[in-house]
Amino acid sequence: MILPLPLLVGLLLGLGVRDLDRSEPLPWGDAWTRLPSLAVAMGIWSGVVILGGTALAFWIAPRRYEGRAQRLRRLWSRVVEWSAVGLFAWVLLWGDWAEVATRLLGLENPVLVDEVAILAPLLVMLAIGWVASYPVERVGLLGAPPTTLRDHVGIRVRQAVGMLLPLLVLYGLGHDLIERWLPQTHEEPAAQLALLTVLSGVMLVLSPLFVRISWRTRRLASGPLRDRLEALSRRFRFRYTDILVWDTGGMLVNAGVTGVLPWFRYVILTDGLVDRLGPREVEAVFGHELGHIKHHHLAYLAFFFITSVGALSLVETLIHAGFETPVWQALWGGGSVWASVAEWTVLLGIVAVYVVVVFGHLSRRFERQADLFGCRVVSCDRRTCPPHADPEDPQRLNAEAPRSICPVGIEIFSKALREVALSNGLPIRAPSWRHGSIAQRLGFLEHVANRPEAVGRFQTSLGRLRWMLAVVLGLMLAVSLWLVPSGVP
Ligand SMILES: [Zn+2]
Ligand SMILES: [Zn+2]
Repeated sequence: MILPLPLLVGLLLGLGVRDLDRSEPLPWGDAWTRLPSLAVAMGIWSGVVILGGTALAFWIAPRRYEGRAQRLRRLWSRVVEWSAVGLFAWVLLWGDWAEVATRLLGLENPVLVDEVAILAPLLVMLAIGWVASYPVERVGLLGAPPTTLRDHVGIRVRQAVGMLLPLLVLYGLGHDLIERWLPQTHEEPAAQLALLTVLSGVMLVLSPLFVRISWRTRRLASGPLRDRLEALSRRFRFRYTDILVWDTGGMLVNAGVTGVLPWFRYVILTDGLVDRLGPREVEAVFGHELGHIKHHHLAYLAFFFITSVGALSLVETLIHAGFETPVWQALWGGGSVWASVAEWTVLLGIVAVYVVVVFGHLSRRFERQADLFGCRVVSCDRRTCPPHADPEDPQRLNAEAPRSICPVGIEIFSKALREVALSNGLPIRAPSWRHGSIAQRLGFLEHVANRPEAVGRFQTSLGRLRWMLAVVLGLMLAVSLWLVPSGVP
């Protein structure tokens, strides 16, 4: 599904900085005097991105069909979002915003209010950035109906809320409640990890609720398409609460699945997907989402996330020990704010590399596995395909779920993938660290098209990778739980 990365990084920065232990807090008077400079800097940034966006839109308008104009269009929204995150980092570090915001609210922190206040400058800047990227998107986006500013910003705000809400509830509630009721366990790593596990579980179970709150969705109307998808689900014994259509004003062509419990789970198709793809292609995309569930990707990623936190806390302990060594103490003057900033930057760098390399790799493999499932649901079991037998053929309605993948099934899924890319204005070679580019995904399907043994090899090696990661992360977690309370190193 769609994950606004700049927002996630900003969130980690905002909440991470608060937990920085600094031995030289900024004097309260100083923090106040810096507020006007922060406001001015944010004002200048807003002016630059709004004017820049308008100017760029004028430049792109006559060149919208050229490759460089399209590259610039995509680059622009990234530059705007990431510069907002950069400025936010400066507001946090130089302006000591987390401290100022918390003090502005008074001593008694109401649950979650302080987290929202800390993130407020980022949220405001992102909102301004979305307004600034509107003219560029409007003149540059091909193949989609023109949208209003309200729709353009509205959909991003809802998307941000859909992601922020569960994460803030997860982190903020846990953080605040522990501090309030169980202050003695606050520093206990095992207790924190247990809490994280419980909250992640709760979030996975409740995520369908968050989707319903934050996105404008409706039930997929009864009709041939719904019948098809329901029949498919029966064939594969796939259970869900409902199939929803997400109204994006036709702007997004995408699909997703949410919820780990069969009786509280939604499959979500955007309006654009339903309108622009044929029923067989929608079925293939639906099958991709079904594949994520059948292969337990959501649950595995939750497990991966929790054990990674444990493993990274081991890394953090080691880095901290490294910064305590005399050499570093001499270099950084030990105990200054900048020493903890440096330590924290190293840790953040390692986390970033870990997320991009390890999580990115796993995520791309999962997408391929889901792609194979998408091919399978529209395949037939005929050895001699083509001619292909449509599973929706009235004579085959109660047929068994196909066990293998046929060439026509792969063709249908590939066509769906190409159409999704085209409708989203996404070049098929555009890199994607979480999904892999469309070209790579198509290439993989082409590779397995006439090699059933390649599918088997892929499944086996992915299964092995899952086990290996689980063992390594589990061990690191165990070591970190054993090291930290005993105070070593
Ligand atoms: Zn997927
Ligand atoms: Zn076939």
